[in-house]
Amino acid sequence: MSTILSPGDVKLRDGRSVDFANLDIAATAPCLRAVADAVAELLPFYGSVHRGAGALSERCTREYEQARETVADFVGCRDGDTVVFTRNTTDALNLLARAVPEGTTVLTFDGEHHANLLPWQQSLHLDAPRSPQEAVELLEWALRRQPCGLVSVTAASNVTGEVWPVAALAEVAHRYGARLAVDAAQLAPHAPVDLTALGADYVAFSGHKLYAPFGAGVLAGRADWLDAAEPYLAGGGASASVGDDLDVRWATGPARHEAGTPNLLGAVAIAAACRALAAADHSAERALVARLRAGLARLPHVEELRLFEADAERVGIVSFAVLGEDPGALATTLGRDHGIGVRTGLFCAHPLTRRLLSEATARIAPSAPVPPQAVRASFGLGTTEAHIDRLLEALRR
Ligand code: PLP
Repeated sequence: MSTILSPGDVKLRDGRSVDFANLDIAATAPCLRAVADAVAELLPFYGSVHRGAGALSERCTREYEQARETVADFVGCRDGDTVVFTRNTTDALNLLARAVPEGTTVLTFDGEHHANLLPWQQSLHLDAPRSPQEAVELLEWALRRQPCGLVSVTAASNVTGEVWPVAALAEVAHRYGARLAVDAAQLAPHAPVDLTALGADYVAFSGHKLYAPFGAGVLAGRADWLDAAEPYLAGGGASASVGDDLDVRWATGPARHEAGTPNLLGAVAIAAACRALAAADHSAERALVARLRAGLARLPHVEELRLFEADAERVGIVSFAVLGEDPGALATTLGRDHGIGVRTGLFCAHPLTRRLLSEATARIAPSAPVPPQAVRASFGLGTTEAHIDRLLEALRR
């Protein structure tokens, strides 16, 4: 039995049926069977979390807090760390941005996903580095000149799949008294994201990219700033007591930032995904990355997007420029004629993707117009060599 829920076959324009090649997993991953089972098991026991008495409420509260512990294990929480359930990575990074103590200087790199760029608009931005080593050197250079309280970086780019040197960045940040936050939306589905092993201070990720359903995400890491911050949302659950004149004593712990009825099923689904992924073998995915890149390199009008050197480590994400084709029309053809789902666009990292599209075009056809959008193939558990070969063959045609 497959570990991934599959949509089954899709009908093509010519009437044939093929199994759908979902190469848009970086946007939203399909659901793991273990996740669906965990959710289905809990459905008959629906009850309020943290708010009621009786068997259902007790069970739901227990499941919710157990999910928190599972996530804490998955991300290697240490003493003094906490796990807050959020809606997704965007929500988690916005929460962190709100919790950073007043006056803290925050530093990011250009080239981040908008979720790790726009919440930090008031912060310092370093140029996107051209190698993992340069990222470390740039950070050290910046911190030597300007004291900083927090550095927020991606763990793996949603545009290129390139893996960032998080542990080395954390080491430099700590040497200069700064904390390091990691946007692990794209790394967590493909590799361990362990705060202890990486030496990072915060990690954010989304359930729907981790083979779990939409609507739940995680911010995990140092509790002190979160405990001292104003609640992210005001409301029930975040308030320990409210006086007659509406003076509020806010809750402590993760509840402080989880106002409103929590997303129990989302939390349980993420926990099930964490348990499944802790035992997952991602080596096949690395072979698929190599297969796709080698195949793309043989296509004359196609050039991959990359920020780092060609041999940098990657997760299952490969974006490319296709010269002389309308990217939207190409994606439609891939879908309708070949049963392949890809993403086209600038991938919520507009400045970076535009720049990499220009560079990719210049490498293979300096005088050609730069395509307005890139095409991204992304994959993971459930992707096969046949899916990759079908994409390559469709592009070749
Ligand atoms: N960070 C990265 C690297 C991403 O790829 C994404 C989504 O594509 C996000 C953050 C935002 O994730 P979400 O839309 O689940 O909040």
